[in-house]
Amino acid sequence: MNKNETDTLAIVKPDAFGSGKAGRIIAHLEGAGFRVVAATVKHLTRPEAQAFYAVHRERPFFDSLVDFMTSGPCMPMLLRRENAVPELRRAIGATDPAEAEDGTVRALYAESKERNAIHASDSPENAEIEISFFFAGTDRLSG
Ligand code: GDP
Repeated sequence: MNKNETDTLAIVKPDAFGSGKAGRIIAHLEGAGFRVVAATVKHLTRPEAQAFYAVHRERPFFDSLVDFMTSGPCMPMLLRRENAVPELRRAIGATDPAEAEDGTVRALYAESKERNAIHASDSPENAEIEISFFFAGTDRLSG
């Protein structure tokens, strides 16, 4: 294991998982240098989705986001590579696929600003919290 590697959390969201895009998204991320350290398939409950996105609870789209994230199974993954958090944000592209750079996961696979195929942690601190949310007890690296 490379000592400069770090961990981050991705979720193939219900739009992409339900329409059979998980395999292509994982292949894309592996091609971008990430390794899947742990993965699961989970249909979030409303309390789980509300807790995961608690930072957005005052936003006008919160209820809609919770509806979407509980609409079907999703695929949380613990991903590892050098500089994992910023590199995954770069690989997935902007929140709105209309603004995502060509070749990013969201440009390729997202349907809309809400149904945007994939989640990625936005800071190392949030990566720690989000990895613990799904993979408490999994061996991992800090930072
Ligand atoms: P991210 O870090 O790029 O995923 O974006 P945010 O943390 O800002 O938002 C979390 C998630 O909420 C996004 O990935 C979208 O699924 C959804 N979202 C963000 N902005 C909007 C919006 O303006 N409208 C709706 N309906 N959903 C949004």
